[in-house]
Amino acid sequence: MRLDKFICKSTELNRAQASECIECAEISVNGETITEVSFQVHESNSVVFKGQRLVARPSRYIMLHKPIHTLSSNVDGDYPSLFRCINIERAEELHIVGRLDADTTGLVLLTDDGRWSFDIIRPDKQCEKTYRVTLRDAIRDDVADMVARFAHGLQLQNEPALTLPAKLEVVTEKEVLLTITEGKYHQVKRMFAAVGNRVNGLHRERIGGLSLELDVGCWRHLSEDEVNRLS
Ligand code: URA
Repeated sequence: MRLDKFICKSTELNRAQASECIECAEISVNGETITEVSFQVHESNSVVFKGQRLVARPSRYIMLHKPIHTLSSNVDGDYPSLFRCINIERAEELHIVGRLDADTTGLVLLTDDGRWSFDIIRPDKQCEKTYRVTLRDAIRDDVADMVARFAHGLQLQNEPALTLPAKLEVVTEKEVLLTITEGKYHQVKRMFAAVGNRVNGLHRERIGGLSLELDVGCWRHLSEDEVNRLS
């Protein structure tokens, strides 16, 4: 990771203070003074500040049940940021792994481990996400046809290729479970628009092997096993 980030993860300094220490030549890496904030360090490197070797705090991995009308952003906007649900030290160091729209509820992951989150969202990993969708129009006689269309792939507006095969399970006439392996902008809403329907309610229940079992607005740390299950 970058040297300034390493300093933040191993001291109480913020990014600006860490940069200042680096630029003032107060940090050495493996015995050599480094003044470049973006210098790459590995956890096994010996990073010394004021005569002390720094040790990075362990990464954090969190699941949250996002309430409706909260923003997948670090700051408030038209609605409050979902970070308002998380009373934790240094919450600003966390980022969201796969954002949800303001009117979407459900499972959100947060971490300060960029490599882990990249592994979850990178397209070739094809990590499954399952959404419970409430529809405007009932699916009645056309269930098999609809399942086949989602499995085949749909043409979304302004996209060069069809969506990857998706699994549609009809729960009731107006409620379905949709499992997708991509994360395009407004993907689920656009997929139902592509078949002439409309999403009236959207809730993410699962990411990979991790299902949501928290009350709305609640959060918890993931276990080591859960972290490994996703990467
Ligand atoms: N697809 C959407 O359209 N919205 C979301 O919030 C998530 C997936």
